Amino acid sequence: MSAPEPLSPALRAEALEQLLVERGLVDPAGLDRLIAAYESDIGPLNGAKVVARAWTDPDYKRRLLADGAAAIAEMEFEGPRAEHIVVAENTASVHNVVVCTLCSCYPWSVLGLPPSWYKDPAYRARVVREPRAVLAEMGLRLDEDVRIVVRDSSSEVRWLVLPERPAGTEHLSEPELVPLVTRDSMVGVAKVSAP
Ligand code: FE
Repeated sequence: MSAPEPLSPALRAEALEQLLVERGLVDPAGLDRLIAAYESDIGPLNGAKVVARAWTDPDYKRRLLADGAAAIAEMEFEGPRAEHIVVAENTASVHNVVVCTLCSCYPWSVLGLPPSWYKDPAYRARVVREPRAVLAEMGLRLDEDVRIVVRDSSSEVRWLVLPERPAGTEHLSEPELVPLVTRDSMVGVAKVSAP
């Protein structure tokens, strides 16, 4: 007899949700509110605000790199507290890129929902073995002398990349810098471009 077909992730999630609701472990209305918040209110804009502030306020940047969760809490974003976030700074010589090799741990509170490629088993396996090739395929070609550091996120440590401030943005203010900072640059699969 052959093994049953595995259920799709959506069906498994639904089954798990039903079970948790039935056993009274979660409140369905609370769950819906949480999902709606991540879908519409909490997105990469929070992360972009953190990055723009770090670019323009050296003291804030120092605090952010020393204790990411505490420095992000200073921003008083809506929603759950950004726990376990550790920030890695990209420079001209070192490029950090984030993955969760085990599942899809991601700094939700500052980046919102993870993109589908982040959860793709191919990305998770390949970015560790051949980060330069994977980044090039995603449109980011790094010079051979740039060291690539792959950061593996987990439930205890959720990495956030502080991208490099692009040349030609020296005259821009903190609010003017915010819209330049993309989600992908904070995962480390892209750079921020000057406008
Ligand atoms: Fe994970």
